[in-house]
Amino acid sequence: MRCLRCGYCCFSLFVVIVDDPAKGIAEDNLKVKIGTNERCQHLRGSEPGKYSCAIHGESWYCKTPCASYGQTEASPDSSCRIGEFVLKKHEEHKKMLHESEER
Ligand code: SF4
Ligand code: SF4
Repeated sequence: MRCLRCGYCCFSLFVVIVDDPAKGIAEDNLKVKIGTNERCQHLRGSEPGKYSCAIHGESWYCKTPCASYGQTEASPDSSCRIGEFVLKKHEEHKKMLHESEER
């Protein structure tokens, strides 16, 4: 599955993340993000579609719980459907704001 960097997973309630990247995946180094709209501490960037993850390049990243969070695509070549939806809504929202500013 191709992540479109929409940020949905990284703001989600109850997503399980690695806490200290230096320790990697260990039972005592996982934490549950419990706040709604609280961004993950590893998320970088400020706009859907342009977010990045500070630990995505780690060799163990694909084994983290958040790597499979919310992912439904079987093929590694398919774009994430949740991401497609979120980015479409984001573009619609930006267009609407732009149009209301022009009025
Ligand atoms: S670890 Fe990375 S991919 Fe996982 S929730 Fe945090 S920012 Fe998102
Ligand atoms: S919902 Fe999909 S595109 Fe968005 S951050 Fe999660 S995996 Fe990436």
